[in-house]
Amino acid sequence: MYPALNKLPNKSDSKPLPIVVIGNGPSGICLSYLLSGYIPYIKRGSVHPHPILQRKLEETPEVPIIDQDLEYLSEGLEGRSQSPVALLFDTLLRPDTDFGGTAESVLTWWHETNRAIPHLVLGRNPPGGAWHFIEGSMITLSQGEWMGLPDLQFKDWMRKKRRGLRNNRATAEDIAQYYQHYVAKKGLQKNFISGTVVTSVRKVSPDVNSSYAQQDPEGNSDSFWDFPEKEDDQIASGNLFQVDGFIKNTNGHQQPFSIYAENVVLATGTYDSPTKLGVNGEDLPFVHHKLSALEEAVKNKRVGMTSDPVLIVGAGLTAADAILFAHHCNIPVIHAFRRRVNDPGLIFNQLPKMMYPEYHKVHQMMKEQSVACPGPYECYISLPEHHVLSFTEDMKCVFQDKSGHQKVFNISLAFVLIGSNPNLSFLPNNGIDLAIDNEQPVNSKRNPINVDPFTYECVQEKGLYAVGPLAGDNFVRFVQGGALAVASSLLKKANKNPP
Ligand SMILES: Cc1cc2nc3c(=O)[nH]c(=O)nc-3n(C[C@H](O)[C@H](O)[C@H](O)COP(=O)(O)OP(=O)(O)OC[C@H]3O[C@@H](n4cnc5c(N)ncnc54)[C@H](O)[C@@H]3O)c2cc1C
Repeated sequence: MYPALNKLPNKSDSKPLPIVVIGNGPSGICLSYLLSGYIPYIKRGSVHPHPILQRKLEETPEVPIIDQDLEYLSEGLEGRSQSPVALLFDTLLRPDTDFGGTAESVLTWWHETNRAIPHLVLGRNPPGGAWHFIEGSMITLSQGEWMGLPDLQFKDWMRKKRRGLRNNRATAEDIAQYYQHYVAKKGLQKNFISGTVVTSVRKVSPDVNSSYAQQDPEGNSDSFWDFPEKEDDQIASGNLFQVDGFIKNTNGHQQPFSIYAENVVLATGTYDSPTKLGVNGEDLPFVHHKLSALEEAVKNKRVGMTSDPVLIVGAGLTAADAILFAHHCNIPVIHAFRRRVNDPGLIFNQLPKMMYPEYHKVHQMMKEQSVACPGPYECYISLPEHHVLSFTEDMKCVFQDKSGHQKVFNISLAFVLIGSNPNLSFLPNNGIDLAIDNEQPVNSKRNPINVDPFTYECVQEKGLYAVGPLAGDNFVRFVQGGALAVASSLLKKANKNPP
């Protein structure tokens, strides 16, 4: 039985869905909330601490934010995001948070069901996205409050659950549960189909109508987006996408589906494909690319205090989490990374020590316990400015240092934790044509999808939107602005704006 399939329109239905959202993490959830007719107004009597923004908000207090000119409202705002709409929505939700304040949101939410737009949110995991496969005990980098979604404060939910924050930060498990709770509490479940994997999104001709007879059901006739020259007004009305995939049921069976949508929102995040080193032996069975494999290996007693060291490659926070975990289990670690320990680009050099004592500790170990000068820490050596050259079948790793000297170490397992890339294999040409540099793969930091900053619609493909890290917004507090921009644009398209 595939109960979730009931939510999917039949392929032969002549009417396509207005919106399909792919990805059910915080971006998809926030967008579903807005598309479900939850409309943000400025709370009567509230005063925003930003005087210019406050003056603008006073101009049309009766008009919901979602219907206002987002470009005008966000002009001049500054903060920790490059996206003006992300800064705007964040400052309306958390007005003085960057100054250490806890002022309440200036927004009030009305549920206007007549403004809801039918949509589906498809996702591989339960609602919550990446937070379901981040190790549950991991503490967030962000303050707990910054992980919350509109109109359900994270701290209130934690209080109700009788859970406490650690140093103002929460565990990944709490975050994942909060997102699931949010979907239930806001009555969004009917829009969500979990266990769904999208394998193909293709633009099809809207003229094909109900029979869609001219489509290639395999979707393999076109390796690039169809970019016909169209007039703008045709674009607004003429989008049609075919979204194919399968739903997994509890027995592991897969049921294929195919649906049509006028607009598709890419909210698939960037954590599905770990970055590889691209060296010989990287596909040997003792080489892993996910932190969860280390936890699994410890649980299954594949490594322990007396094993050869585990190798951890990388100098980001996931590598640091792996080191902390191994340290906690007394497992010996060799830690290799390419940068200098004092490189200002290293994340540890950017984090305040007081707030992140555990990462500071890892950084200290990296500095004080290199292979060249043994220090006070047991079971750990760092290899700064080292490259991995290869892994060999007899469980060795060959490194090269900055002077070109090679070193060989015996290891029990290797964990290459050097970042991840979005998996856009369901798009023509892996979505490369949509990126800012459309000759390079999409990358959340270096080459995000090129979107209009006030609608988040893809510059290269009308009717297709991208939010979250795919559009360059890497933190939960800022992905919500993208959702606001998309919802505002889609409400306009659907003529759901009040007169
Ligand atoms: C270890 C780690 C720690 C982090 N710490 C923080 C932090 O402290 N603070 C912070 O703000 N952010 C943090 N982040 C970043 C945060 O996770 C993201 O900003 C946020 O989850 C992005 O939300 P999203 O909804 O856009 O994407 P995601 O949360 O990544 O969700 C996207 C979902 O779409 C699914 N999906 C992908 N492709 C398909 C497909 N073809 N079909 C169906 N489903 C698909 C994915 O499996 C995933 O479940 C951290 C990330 C990691 C990995």
